[in-house]
Amino acid sequence: MLEYVGAIHIHSCYSDGSGTLREITAAARKADLDFVVLTDHDTLRPREDGWQGWRDDVLLVTGIEVTCQHRSHVVVLGAKDVTGLRWKPLRRVLFDLQNQGASAFVAHAHPAHIMGISLKAGELHDWDVPGFAGVELWSFMHDICDGLTPWRIPSFVRTWQRFIRGPHPETMAHWDRVTAVRRFAAIGTLDNHAIVIPVIGARVLTYEVGFRTLRTHVLSEEWSGRPTDAAVLREALSAGRAFIALDLWADARGFRFEAETGGELLQMGEERPWRGPAVLRVRSPVTAGLRLLCDGKPVAEAEATTLEYRADRPGAYRVEARHAGRPWVYTNPIYLRREVAPHETQVKG
Ligand SMILES: [Zn+2]
Ligand SMILES: [Zn+2]
Repeated sequence: MLEYVGAIHIHSCYSDGSGTLREITAAARKADLDFVVLTDHDTLRPREDGWQGWRDDVLLVTGIEVTCQHRSHVVVLGAKDVTGLRWKPLRRVLFDLQNQGASAFVAHAHPAHIMGISLKAGELHDWDVPGFAGVELWSFMHDICDGLTPWRIPSFVRTWQRFIRGPHPETMAHWDRVTAVRRFAAIGTLDNHAIVIPVIGARVLTYEVGFRTLRTHVLSEEWSGRPTDAAVLREALSAGRAFIALDLWADARGFRFEAETGGELLQMGEERPWRGPAVLRVRSPVTAGLRLLCDGKPVAEAEATTLEYRADRPGAYRVEARHAGRPWVYTNPIYLRREVAPHETQVKG
């Protein structure tokens, strides 16, 4: 398996972002990204204009952010036609996208309050609507801008890094409840518009600066260098063969979480029936506060570069890591399932 690192949920001047696709690609190359997923609002024009594919060693994927009824947003990769989907009920949108073979993710799952305006997020029960592959577990822009008021702008401009808090606790808790019974992939996203802040008239989080912050690391077979790699990336993200890292603190390339069970080596996102004790291993490129969780509850912790744990019960196992006490890495789970009866698969809470 190879590791590819990229930025997801980027707005260009095809909707309300400030940059052209040429500028975005150049910024991605400078930030050493392998891929960028564009998600302009309710338009596939970048794709129609032929932008999907490799540009200067960066795979540009022309996704979309669809606005559904009640203003809930869905981030989609692989959509072919979105005519008439805007403002439609979520269930209808997901049904339509599923028929197109697209992958949909719950966008910015918790509400943020910016400059006194409440940005609407999807409802937690939306996650149960059939057709979602996963969720934006950590939406960077919604994280750092939540609670931002006009009088806090000067300190935000100087030290926006201090506004980083990590995934919203309610989103994390709900994700743990969902993954305890079914696979639900997590991605880390920027929602970067590189907007000009009105009072100071400058872009604080330019595309390049944003691309050095929250990234999604994907484990995949080697890419071919052809536009079809966009489908390979989509498949890996939907399967949860990925982890989220705030690479601003430390480059998380090489971070791994694996399970050895029944003579097999499992990666993040993989699911197997429980076959007795499993050995879970975590490896980090730098010393970090590693924490292994089962169905959302911590089972092992160490400040180290490795962690090994013998799991003696089934569950959805995942890893969180803190770097110098700050939120850093969140992996997708490895799912070791006891056999469940169909009536037990209802998510509660
Ligand atoms: Zn949105
Ligand atoms: Zn957006």
